[in-house]
Amino acid sequence: MSTFLRNGQYINGAWRASKETYPVRNPANGELIVDVAKGGAAEAEEAIAAAAAAFPSWRKFTAKERGIRVRRWGELMLEHRDALAELLTREQGKPLAEARGEVGYAASFLEWFAEEAKRSYGDVIPSPSPHSKIFVVREPVGVVAAITPWNFPLAMITRKAAPALAAGCTMVLKPSEETPLSALALAVLAEEAGIPAGVFNVVSGDAQAIGSVLTGSDIVRKLSFTGSTRVGKLLAAQCADTLKKLSLELGGNAPFIVFDDADVEAAVRGAVASKFRNTGQTCVCVNRFYVQSGIYDAFTKALADAVRKLRVGNALAGEVEQGPLINQAALHKVQAHVADALAKGAIALAGGEHHVLGGTFYPPTVLVEATQQMLIAQEETFGPVAACFRFDTEAEAIAAANDTPFGLSAYFYTRDMARCWRVAEALESGMVGINEGVISTEVAPFGGVKQSGLGREGSKYGLDEYVELKYLMMGGL
Ligand code: ADP
Repeated sequence: MSTFLRNGQYINGAWRASKETYPVRNPANGELIVDVAKGGAAEAEEAIAAAAAAFPSWRKFTAKERGIRVRRWGELMLEHRDALAELLTREQGKPLAEARGEVGYAASFLEWFAEEAKRSYGDVIPSPSPHSKIFVVREPVGVVAAITPWNFPLAMITRKAAPALAAGCTMVLKPSEETPLSALALAVLAEEAGIPAGVFNVVSGDAQAIGSVLTGSDIVRKLSFTGSTRVGKLLAAQCADTLKKLSLELGGNAPFIVFDDADVEAAVRGAVASKFRNTGQTCVCVNRFYVQSGIYDAFTKALADAVRKLRVGNALAGEVEQGPLINQAALHKVQAHVADALAKGAIALAGGEHHVLGGTFYPPTVLVEATQQMLIAQEETFGPVAACFRFDTEAEAIAAANDTPFGLSAYFYTRDMARCWRVAEALESGMVGINEGVISTEVAPFGGVKQSGLGREGSKYGLDEYVELKYLMMGGL
């Protein structure tokens, strides 16, 4: 078992047991990995107090000193890539190659923000009076709460912790109860990297109780949340009373438009990468494929052929490209979406039935003749199902793509340059992949519009979420 396996809470640089525990299981076979301490309101309060106590000295470190530690944290992740990937796969189920990729992606945020925080420049503004000077400085917002999901148990944490800590904030993290072990492994490495006690705290267990304390606290100045739109709205409402700064990275319902002039082979490659990564369980996974009539049969046939080749199974027992879904509720949602689509006239070109492995495995599926009346058009499926809709005109495709309350990512394939700009500008979406199915990188701003969220993570813009501007007027000159 991994040397990074911990089962306590990590508060003020110390490991704590708690009276109650809960089991963390491998979703591929239900195997018990470990019983983990179940924290609640009391632990959340303690962690906030620790983060508040650590804040004054952490913010006084120079940006370079903080950066050295944050960067070291990322280097340690890479040094222990295999052990972290194995632990991640064990608790989450994704293929080992994807878990190794996630370790690299997670570490990239630590490297990026270790550098970026050194360039958190202020400003000098020409004063309207000859007797004063105006300066703008950037200051860390203070104690930050982070609540993260299970689909990227490492990267969704470092994407928040890296800019927060590099900017001089301290943090209380509540990871998903499905995947607390990767978060606790990160705490082990944070300590080894020289991040002082209280700067990074991890509390998991009773999500509602911990969430209420974090959102209700006067000391916590900001909440950064990644997860469902439903919970995001709930937490935003809970934060209203103390008017916290908010970053919300919520659900999507990504369209993927394939025009008649697309390179079919490239579009299928992009489609598989975007739809089936993490078994369809990412917020930027395609949910709706809009394919133009002239290319519809060629594209859907090629997609189904590619999808049938994806190997499904327990990632720790052999080479696979598709792991299990995270839990029974996830499986039921996928089954309900497919059943609804088939009942309303869709046809399964691949998959669409129970998987022989049972459990929460589901076969990679391609549905054709999907229509806007189907559930799959309205809601994020969060599973390995590619629903293909047919369209005739560009205007029709754009209208259908935008016909959703969400706006996280969108993709399209075409070889027409003018259309590239037209469609990219018309899509109501925070991110657009143009002839590209994989868009996540630490150097670009990740985030959504409409009900997909607030704020951006990663890139030079990501630091802004963790700093306040303070304006100083010096008079009497
Ligand atoms: P998902 O469907 O991806 O699990 P959720 O929004 O349910 O999305 O979960 C994302 C994160 O939000 C997890 O860490 C989960 O524990 C947390 N969460 C869910 N409900 C609440 C709540 N009422 N208060 C605080 N955190 C919550």
